[in-house]
Amino acid sequence: MSSYKEIVLRSGKEASLQRFHPWVFSGAIARKPEDLVEGETVRVLAADGTFLGVGHFQIGSIAVRIMSFVDEPIDAAFYKKSLSNAYRMRSSLNLVRPDNTIFRLVHGEGDCLPGLIVDIYGDTAVIQAHSVGIHRDLELVTNALKQILPTDMVKHIFYKSEGTLPYKAGIFPENSYLSGGEDVDEIAMENGLRFRIDWLKGQKTGFFVDQRENRALLEYYAKGRHVLNMFCYTGGFSVYALRGGAASVMSVDSSAKAVSITDQNVALNFGEDPRHSSFPEDAFKFLRQLSGGEKDLIILDPPAFAKHRGAINNALQGYKKLNLQALQKIAPGGFLFTFSCSQVISAEQFRLAVFSAAAISGRKVRILHQLTQPADHPINIYHPEGEYLKGLVLQVE
Ligand code: SAH
Repeated sequence: MSSYKEIVLRSGKEASLQRFHPWVFSGAIARKPEDLVEGETVRVLAADGTFLGVGHFQIGSIAVRIMSFVDEPIDAAFYKKSLSNAYRMRSSLNLVRPDNTIFRLVHGEGDCLPGLIVDIYGDTAVIQAHSVGIHRDLELVTNALKQILPTDMVKHIFYKSEGTLPYKAGIFPENSYLSGGEDVDEIAMENGLRFRIDWLKGQKTGFFVDQRENRALLEYYAKGRHVLNMFCYTGGFSVYALRGGAASVMSVDSSAKAVSITDQNVALNFGEDPRHSSFPEDAFKFLRQLSGGEKDLIILDPPAFAKHRGAINNALQGYKKLNLQALQKIAPGGFLFTFSCSQVISAEQFRLAVFSAAAISGRKVRILHQLTQPADHPINIYHPEGEYLKGLVLQVE
């Protein structure tokens, strides 16, 4: 039995934990110790004293993130076991290969480690804490990581939590190397393609690992096509399209920095490739000015239009408008890869927004594929909130 301080729930509030949902909302708590420090590990008990789980306490609407439903300490052995399971799973998915050195090793709740993200880029691991508890346990996580990965696989560990921890917790962690940091090779491989990853300044941990399988699918459809990659960021879809034999690829992002990273990644793989051009422009404006019928493969992978429930309606309007613009311009027989990474928008809502756009466009539209996040971003079945990436591949006549 673990010996942590105890939080007792109100009567009737134990049901979701008994179904292994890993969050305790603050309203469910009847009693907690006065001296509880944010990020501290606690035992959670039902009103009748029954043990429910051990987790990290945090001030806010999600008050406890359950790390284990077994009464065990969240210590070095716990992290070693959990990270080792996560690594074994990625190995069995055949993601750890000489030609694939980019993968997500730990995906929070999906790996029963709420608050923890670990992405691997070549010989660098990037750790991101989304809870104060993980920040407090950082040394345990780092040590476990060093122990469970094969020797020499990871030489550098970078911590990137400046933007992900609650401001009021007053932690202000600096983005920095926890180990290594010298002679760092920023180039890593995804399915045999080379990418320069900017974990220091890039978005998220530096790369959108979650689009790997969808990029690979796009490669199959790219041959001979005129491709438009909207919201290109590091140019993932563009590079796959070029390898797939696209006739031309245009990459668009409103960030000049992103466009320059895309150009570098194209050059890394194909040198000067006259098929590729890039534009630092607003996607909506770019689509408005595009001549109809010029592109027969369009990718729309915008940032999350809704970050919270209150923004859902506006976000749905945004998806509808964006998809309508693309549907109006795509050549007959074209393919549209369209995505939403807004966690608060369901696959059904997204599909309805795209349906509305299709209906207004008056085009004949078929759904060829329904896409989601890849297996190294697993969804804990008891935590449906973990499902966030949705995509549709449409054929437009
Ligand atoms: N498709 C990318 C990830 C896209 S992330 C990949 O596979 O890696 C979303 C991108 O949209 C960011 O790079 C951001 O700079 C860009 N963006 C945000 N608003 C935009 C707008 N209005 N027009 C064009 N790009 C925009």
